[in-house]
Amino acid sequence: MKSHAKVVVIGGGVVGCSVLFHLARHGWTDVVLLERDELTSGSTWHAAGGMHTINGDPNVAKLQKYTISLYKEIEELSGQATGVHLTGGVLLAATEARLDWLRGVVAKGRYLGIDLEEISAKEAAELMPLLDPSQFVGAVRNKEDGHLDPSGVTHAYAKAARKLGAEVERFTKVEDIVRRPDGLWRVLTNKGEVVAEHVVNAGGLWAREVGRMVGLELPVLAMEHMYLITEDMPEVAAWNQKTGTEIIHAVDFDGELYLRQERGGMLMGTYEKANKPWSEFQTPWNFGHELLEPDIDRIAPSLEVGFRHFPAFQNTGIKQIINGPFTFAPDGNPLVGPVRGLPGFWVACGVMAGFSQGGGVGLALSNWMIEGDPGADIWAMDVSRYGDWATMAYTNAKVRENYSRRFSIRFPNEELPAGRLLKTTPVYDLLSAKGAQWGVSYGLEVPLWYAPEGVKDEFSWRRSSDFSHVAREVASVRGSVGLAEISNFAKYKVTGEGAASWLDRLLACKLPKPGRMTLAPMLKEDGRLIGDFTLANLGDGEWFIAGSGIAEQYHMRWFEAHLPVDGSVRIEALGPKLTGLAIAGPKARELLAKVTRADVSNTAFPFMAIARMDIGMAPCLVGRVSYTGDLGYEMWVAPEYQRAAFQALMAAGEEFGIGLFGSRALNSLRLEKNYGSLAREYRPIYGPLEAGLDRFVAYGKEADFIGKQAALAERKQGGRLRLRTFIVEADDADVIGDEPIWFDGAVRGWVTSGGYAHHSKKSVAIGYVPKEIADESDGFEIELLGRRHAARMQPVPLFDANFERMRA
Ligand SMILES: Cc1cc2nc3c(=O)[nH]c(=O)nc-3n(C[C@H](O)[C@H](O)[C@H](O)COP(=O)(O)OP(=O)(O)OC[C@H]3O[C@@H](n4cnc5c(N)ncnc54)[C@H](O)[C@@H]3O)c2cc1C
Repeated sequence: MKSHAKVVVIGGGVVGCSVLFHLARHGWTDVVLLERDELTSGSTWHAAGGMHTINGDPNVAKLQKYTISLYKEIEELSGQATGVHLTGGVLLAATEARLDWLRGVVAKGRYLGIDLEEISAKEAAELMPLLDPSQFVGAVRNKEDGHLDPSGVTHAYAKAARKLGAEVERFTKVEDIVRRPDGLWRVLTNKGEVVAEHVVNAGGLWAREVGRMVGLELPVLAMEHMYLITEDMPEVAAWNQKTGTEIIHAVDFDGELYLRQERGGMLMGTYEKANKPWSEFQTPWNFGHELLEPDIDRIAPSLEVGFRHFPAFQNTGIKQIINGPFTFAPDGNPLVGPVRGLPGFWVACGVMAGFSQGGGVGLALSNWMIEGDPGADIWAMDVSRYGDWATMAYTNAKVRENYSRRFSIRFPNEELPAGRLLKTTPVYDLLSAKGAQWGVSYGLEVPLWYAPEGVKDEFSWRRSSDFSHVAREVASVRGSVGLAEISNFAKYKVTGEGAASWLDRLLACKLPKPGRMTLAPMLKEDGRLIGDFTLANLGDGEWFIAGSGIAEQYHMRWFEAHLPVDGSVRIEALGPKLTGLAIAGPKARELLAKVTRADVSNTAFPFMAIARMDIGMAPCLVGRVSYTGDLGYEMWVAPEYQRAAFQALMAAGEEFGIGLFGSRALNSLRLEKNYGSLAREYRPIYGPLEAGLDRFVAYGKEADFIGKQAALAERKQGGRLRLRTFIVEADDADVIGDEPIWFDGAVRGWVTSGGYAHHSKKSVAIGYVPKEIADESDGFEIELLGRRHAARMQPVPLFDANFERMRA
């Protein structure tokens, strides 16, 4: 075994082997994979080998499509058969709600280039002869489904990597990982030590244990999973003979089942409700090529549905039941990327669909390690989407929930109950008493809307029980004054003598003067957007940044990686140390003036000013800015004072008829101002010109900010896309995001977010279209629940287009 390597990859499952292959293909050949046993000694060997392109996140779907397209290449390179059978498949709907969901999947496929087609249940039965069409209301055909040989694929990756110069050391167990003072990693094994610049944790079932070697508690948990294989079935033989083809895959969402042909019989797997975690706290090192004891009682309810939906199963025997463990992150998506605070330590774990996602994970990670960027939008897989709050117990609760809901519909207005209440702010009970309906963001409870006694969310794809109540909340903001809790923002404090010049290089905006704020886009080297903040200069060398709450860890990883080594800049994520309240509406200033002795007149405290002032008895930092697009103020307050500030505002607001508003009303309000947000409109695949944030980029400033050259090039060449707002002729449903935008009979763009703008009484969609059609006003259509609706471009904000209210 070599004593030094550029990269050590830990784990020879499908994911580790894919990472190794991609590193070598990308030109890093001084790389070695360490596997404690034979390759495939974790989840990989007993997988059912199914692969498919669809995923809830379109960017993950793209990587799944890439994974499937890769198998031919690694087979040719390695000479190792992968056993790929591209059979195609049907996705089945037994209810109308499921069919609505599938229509959304088909629509998304249109701009992702995934070939999906809605078919009737009868047509599905013609393709998949075992199903009873009377049990279904419709289906979708997916030509890119199939299955493969899990061991063959893993060995093909490893062999192809070796051919390119990478090394694989089997029976080499990593026992500890130690960081040297010079930043290199000592990887200690039962066969000696390897010193490496980079370490990749692809430990699969043991990813947690490998993480613990460097003090990291990763939010992953293994679950038991069962599938059965039947005896040979005459129906299968007859179909094979008649058509000369295999029986195609089927996913029966309402039965929570997946099926495919296995030799002369069938394989049926299920994600059962009564699921069971495996090795909750510690994965035993002596586990390897074993299976777990099957528990037919646990899967019996799903099988009962399966036997009804696929009657031929009633007449066949079960040859074998496989029960094996595999890992999940709390939301079911992989954990990929560099780990904050551990330079050179990378993770590629929590991959629950290794044969659909392994290639994409390897590609993104190798790009990231070699080029410094994943080369794709992998937000949904980024390990930084979790912070310390994703504890072991939280992970356990969420993974179990996610497993049991693997095939369940999640409606756009549906909040899931597991892992709550975890983080709450001091006004939680006060808001609950006012009818707050709660959602969760980055582990924190956030008010979505306020319901009268006895009313709650009815889950639906269409406008629902909250509609008129959100309208009332919007009306209180636009008509007088509303109050919202905004603690879910991320807040950062930056200090130190080097702070100003560091921020000038990090952020693309012009730095504000003391007492002022500005909108601050942050770019990466290729000029794409990785942040949009409000940056405030508090004076005396102190800076305050507010940004997207869900990206706190993501941004801290970036901030810390770019801090000067001389200690001249300090940054702190304030997290729960600072809570937030916001007031907005034409009466907001009058209200503020009633609760503070500070001069808040327009002259003394204009738009984008920031100052410390008391709200009632509570010391606060108050900024004159509002995401509602109205006259408004954001107030940052230590948690011990939040109740006092809240009560002072509510009491003083009574005379104006103050109303509480939640994040759904905020969404409605920001839509009529064309305001975007991170992870929706602003993502690392769009440039500032494309996203309409170029007006906040100080192209001419002296500082050589990160991404400046690329941003200048984008401005010169014009980019490819434009973010636009559309008014949709919708009837009883509004867009939620990811719907295709049609123009002139073809899909030309996609929706990033939208909803109903209650004040303007318009259904609004925001999305990207190619710049060539970005100045057209008519001829657009947006596909919503299987129907195309006419849409009109809305070039100026629906509300306060001249920004008079905001600046008044
Ligand atoms: C019953 C079942 C059915 C499934 N069906 C499908 C399916 O149809 N389609 C699909 O895509 N996925 C399926 N999966 C999931 C799939 O198996 C996993 O997504 C995949 O195997 C994950 O691969 P991995 O490389 O991340 O982890 P693993 O396969 O667990 O590999 C990790 C490897 O790391 C090694 N390792 C760990 N720690 C160390 C150490 N300290 N030193 C050295 N080596 C170490 C282990 O020995 C192991 O070989 C199924 C899983 C099960 C259990």
